[in-house]
Amino acid sequence: MKSTTTANNNPDQKHFLVTILFLIAVSAVSYTLLTEHQTFARYYFIYPLCMLAAYFMSNIWFKRVLSVTTFGLLLAGSYLEPLNISVLSQAFILVPLCYIAIFPGSLWPIFVALSILGIYVPHVAGAQVPEFVEASIEFSAIAIFATGGTFYKQKLGKQVERYRKDSLTDFLTQVSNRKAFKQDLESIAKIAGETSKTKFALLLLDLDDFKQINDSLGHQQGDLLLIQFAKRLSNLDFNRINIYRLSGDEFAVLLQDKYDVNFYSQQVATYILEACQSAYHLDKRSYTMTISVGIASLDDALYDTDIWCRNVDIALKRAKQAGKNSIQWFDENLIGETVRSYQIERELSDAIEKGQLALYYQPKVDIKTNLVHGAEALIRWKHPDLGIIPPDEFVGVAERSQQIIPIGRWVIETACQQAKAWDQLGHPICVAVNVSTVQFLYDDIFHVVTKALRDSQLNPQLLQLEITETTLMQQPQRVVDACHDLRTLGIRVAIDDFGVAYSSLNYLKQLPIDVLKIDKSFIDECCSNHNDHMLVRTIIQLGHNMGKVVTAEGVVNDEQLYLLATEGCDEYQGYLYSRPVPPYEFMALLSSRKDVAIPRPQVAAHG
Ligand code: C2E
Ligand code: CA
Ligand code: CA
Repeated sequence: MKSTTTANNNPDQKHFLVTILFLIAVSAVSYTLLTEHQTFARYYFIYPLCMLAAYFMSNIWFKRVLSVTTFGLLLAGSYLEPLNISVLSQAFILVPLCYIAIFPGSLWPIFVALSILGIYVPHVAGAQVPEFVEASIEFSAIAIFATGGTFYKQKLGKQVERYRKDSLTDFLTQVSNRKAFKQDLESIAKIAGETSKTKFALLLLDLDDFKQINDSLGHQQGDLLLIQFAKRLSNLDFNRINIYRLSGDEFAVLLQDKYDVNFYSQQVATYILEACQSAYHLDKRSYTMTISVGIASLDDALYDTDIWCRNVDIALKRAKQAGKNSIQWFDENLIGETVRSYQIERELSDAIEKGQLALYYQPKVDIKTNLVHGAEALIRWKHPDLGIIPPDEFVGVAERSQQIIPIGRWVIETACQQAKAWDQLGHPICVAVNVSTVQFLYDDIFHVVTKALRDSQLNPQLLQLEITETTLMQQPQRVVDACHDLRTLGIRVAIDDFGVAYSSLNYLKQLPIDVLKIDKSFIDECCSNHNDHMLVRTIIQLGHNMGKVVTAEGVVNDEQLYLLATEGCDEYQGYLYSRPVPPYEFMALLSSRKDVAIPRPQVAAHG
């Protein structure tokens, strides 16, 4: 595939002009030789033929042979039958210029000029001397300046070309870089269309778990791996493909085909996947890795290269979700998702201002009394077109763009005001708020909570923050310190999704928390799976031994609730009691409390 990255600023016009001038100069010199020489003239018929052949021939050796022939002929004629000095300054001045056209940037023209002058020297005498000196100066000066000029122009041209090439090449892997990719997309956008016979496809490749490789082996080894990977891509034996490194561990392959671009892309992708799986030999060890590939065709993007890039991005994300080391095509099923995710990303920043965010509350129920004594605030985005968007769809986006910071502040403020309102109505409900890792690491969470408590005048005992194990493990000491500070305000801290992320018991010992929340995944099958049951038992005992309250989440049936009650769990959340509901419905739940004893299930609990 011819890359536009190698395309030059079109030299055709310049070349045409040089050719015309060359033809004029050769004609003028030939005419002089044929008309001025008496005895020697017949030999000069071959002069223009050889000069033209030397100019148009691409083989350098033929060029040289023909040039030496014509030059020798010229010198021989000048020696055997010297012409008038005026001819020297009028027509022969063009001879060195002809050689500039044949060998641009070389010393040929100077050599030719000096040789002709040298041949004439013995023939000059008396009155001809001043005219010869004048002609010689003129002759040499023109040859030297013209040669110098073309030499520097050529050098400059080469430097510019090298610089252009460097600026389009990735310094580490030596494949084309993102800038080259953009340029090529622009040129494709100009030629692509429904009527175009050539079809294009884009492959986006991402090294699976490259961050981990970098973290565990170090950046230097990571670089070596990238270099070797790029080499494998460059060595692929396929036509019409271009390879680019777009960022860290992200590569793109642009390919084109006139017949079946889809089939061709699948072939290339499969080949790449296989080629990349064999071991990479790094400095001290070998390493194997896998990659994920997303593919999208330009036709599916309706010839819009922006949409094309977005499509291939989505396809790659899908490939990653599908468990890595896989190829995923962008197809029509993904179009709806693309539009939705694009809209979510674009409109998220306005969601707070437009009042589209809302908090739903899920009751936390005391297992002994079956009384609601708390609530977890769970965010919802009420989008005018897309309906209610659950947090799983936008919290991740908000975290990546750090928009979770203003959103998280809004959540804390709103939850405090709601808890205060319920308290004033005679329901002192402790409201739990989820705090994202980003808020912990990049926002002044202590200041935000202090302000929210002050503004709402809420009793700090009625606020609880939920942090996940993942947050704890990312910056343990920082989180431990922050929790210490937060608890001085009188609020409670819970560790969420406990058991999922394998948190260090050592940090758990240090962590000033009040509540352990057993993750839903353990509750799901605790009645049918002995191991899950034992894990639930262990977490409850561990929590109690450390003096914490233990909450179970995701309780959906009586059996699970009975088992939790038997194991001594303190409180639960789940669809069994209620889904998360808007504040007014929560109020109704409080007013009609389901103050009933724990039901005894028909089927005895396992264990
Ligand atoms: P989480 O903190 O683990 O919240 C519990 C999730 O489980 C909630 O989903 C809740 O609706 C759901 N759930 C509760 N009981 C049951 C049950 O019995 N069955 C089933 N199938 N699900 C149940 P939701 O509201 O979709 O929230 C998902 C996640 O989004 C939350 O997981 C939390 O990590 C995050 N999130 C929600 N609100 C916020 C927020 O305000 N800030 C931040 N940073 N994250 C939030
Ligand atoms: Ca939670
Ligand atoms: Ca949870």
